[in-house]
Order: sequence, then structure tokens, then C-alpha cells
Amino acid sequence: MPGIVIKPRARIFHGHDWVYASEIRKLFGEPVAGDVISLKDYRDRPLGTAIYNPESQIVARRISRRKQQLDSEFFKRRIEQAIALREKSGVDINLARLVWSESDGLPGVVVDRYGGHLVLQTLTLAMYQRRELIVEALVEAVGPESIILRNDSPMLAAEGIEEEVAVLYGDNPGVFVVEAPTVEGGVKFEIDLLDGQKTGLYLDQLDAHREIAKLAKGKRVLDCFCNQGGFALACAKAGAASVTAVDSSGPAIEATLRNAELNGVEINAVQHNAFDFLKHCEDQYDIVILDPPSFTKNKKSLNNAMRGYKEIHLRGIKLLDRDGVLATYCCSHHASRQMFLDNIVTASVDAKRTLRLVASHGQRLDHPVIPAIPETEYLKGFVLELMPSR
Ligand code: SAH
Repeated sequence: MPGIVIKPRARIFHGHDWVYASEIRKLFGEPVAGDVISLKDYRDRPLGTAIYNPESQIVARRISRRKQQLDSEFFKRRIEQAIALREKSGVDINLARLVWSESDGLPGVVVDRYGGHLVLQTLTLAMYQRRELIVEALVEAVGPESIILRNDSPMLAAEGIEEEVAVLYGDNPGVFVVEAPTVEGGVKFEIDLLDGQKTGLYLDQLDAHREIAKLAKGKRVLDCFCNQGGFALACAKAGAASVTAVDSSGPAIEATLRNAELNGVEINAVQHNAFDFLKHCEDQYDIVILDPPSFTKNKKSLNNAMRGYKEIHLRGIKLLDRDGVLATYCCSHHASRQMFLDNIVTASVDAKRTLRLVASHGQRLDHPVIPAIPETEYLKGFVLELMPSR
């Protein structure tokens, strides 16, 4: 097997599975992009097996500490292990991320399940090249009606993979409805995996929808960055007095309205830039939810991103009525939990209010965190309550 000799002090010696170009001492055996390679330290001791792509910044991603082929048996085993983990964790296995990349020992492979339909992403070259083996393993493990390839992530360019959306197994399911068990009676969502503007759901937030809905009975709720209305719908179904949902995307607002109808609830869905909405809003709320997209994809833009969070935190806090609750989320890996909490505190100081921490949230258990691979932890959220004026 061809391979790489890795320099001392590389992150792989600290439990990570990635090898960057700057960490390579030398190549041997002339590996080509997409190959399975072996990793060695400078004393020629084996460090395991990896997938290789010199086009990517992350040149190698380890798949095993042993010698390992990327064969059908490997995919079946890893996929079965991933599904067993979800079953054990108690997440609703029908509406879940079944496989999540490095966190499941399958770098670049993401599989989401929507009832009988699976959505597959293959975001690394080696996995993309072996997508037929992955489909075969999924068919055996899950027995789905269809498998849709949704390779339309910005990550693909870095790996030299063309964007592609296709049915890999079964037929296009078209538009269908799934039910998330986040509140009593469930919350229905309309899904279109192949043709929809924004397909699928933010599965990582389903637990948060449930937790916030528990606080919502009789309350006036504002859901900013609502997407298809996850928080808004759960709160409305849980008996909120009123629900306003804001998103800058037209299709997201249309989806929120369609989902509201499907669930028999009323949501005041507004297509608006949330920053402007918060700035000019004259109403007061009992619960303000802020769940924006990541404001930063890299360390360089982190300061700007934190200014963005500070702005929405300040405005959000100002809209809270007595005992109001702020639920705020950050899905950028680069902003740490502490940094995000500090940001909320700074905003509360400017607003001259004191907040009490009610709950800390993270990504749902179907997006497992590997502490040795910090990139696997990205979502953090805090629920805070306004303390009486003092
Ligand atoms: N809260 C949702 C997920 C939100 S994803 C859930 O739990 O399912 C982030 C959303 O923010 C996307 O729908 C995107 O369209 C929207 N968005 C991005 N920039 C925005 C802006 N400046 N103002 C309002 N919405 C924005």
C-alpha cells in the first residue's frame, strides 16, 4: 500500500484523524487521489489507514488504526455501528442523521433518514468514488424505498468533486410529509428531497425545538432565522399565544406557511432580514429564538461574526418582556461555547439587563462529538431568562 510519513507533532499524534499538507514528511509508493493509503510516523511505525486526496487541504483522513480496505464489508460494518449508536441514544431513528462523517469513522459520508427515504452526501473523493458500495450497504442495513445523492455542498470544490443531485436507488419520492415527535401529536413537515429549494430539515435542532416548545404555552414567541419553521411550529403546537417567524428566504417562509397549514396552527411568517426586523420591531415577546446560519467559516472572519451575534443578542434582549426567555444558537465551530456565552453577556451589559442561565444545548446525539476531533463539535445554544429589573 502506498502512503505518507508524517512529521512529529502532527495533530494525528493527539488523537485527530486528519493530516494536512504541512504535516507530511514524505510520500512513498506514489499514491493517487482517492486511494487508500497507509500512514507512518518518522520511525516507520504504522499509524493506520487513510483516504488520500492531495487536492484537498486535508490530504489524508484516517479511517482505521489498523490495515483496512475500503470494501463492502467495511461499509456494512461501519454503517451498522452508526445505526446501533443512534438506536442506543434514543433519538427518533426515523428522522435522524444515520451516519455523520468522521464521527462515525466514515470521513465525508453523511446519511440522513426521512422515514423510508435516505439522503446521501459523499464529500470526500475516496468515498465519492465508492458510492455504489455505500448504497449497497445502506440498502442492506436499512431497506429504504429510495436513496438520493445530494452532493451540493460547498465542500465538494475543495475535494475536486462535481456537484450532483441524483436518485441512486428506488424512485424520486417527490413531495412527502414527515412527522417529528417534538411535541405531543408531533410536528409535520413537508419534505422534497430532490427538487426542493432547501431540502430536508435541520435534524440537529430537533431536540432544541422540543425543549423550547416546553416553555411556550401561552407565550408570545418570535422565531428569527426560522427556515421551515422548526421552532415556530413546535411552539405553536405546544399552545403559544402567538408565533412570529422571520427568515430572509422566500422559499423558507413559503415552507413555514405550508407547514403551519399542515399542522393546523397559525404562524405570522415574515420574509425579512432578521437584523433589520429586530432593529425596527416595536412588539415585545416572552420568547425570542435566534438560530442564524454560521456567520463564519474560518478563523479570519471570527471577529466580524462575533459582532453579528452581539448585534442580534442586544436587539433580541431588548424585545423581551418581563421574565422573557432568549434562546440563542451558534453553529460555527470556530466560536467556542465560552466565547458565545461571553458574547451574550456583553450584549446584556449593553442592554442593562441581567440574564439567568436556564439551559445549555448542543447538537442532537445523532451528530456525535469526538473531542479529539474538535471540528465535530459545532452547535451550541443557551437558553436564558431575563431577571426582574435590578
Ligand atoms: N431555526 C431553523 C434553522 C435555521 S437555518 C430550524 O431549527 O430548523 C438558518 C436560516 O437563516 C436559513 O433558513 C436562512 O434562510 C436564514 N437566514 C440567513 N440569513 C438571514 C438573515 N440575514 N435574516 C433572516 N434570515 C436569514
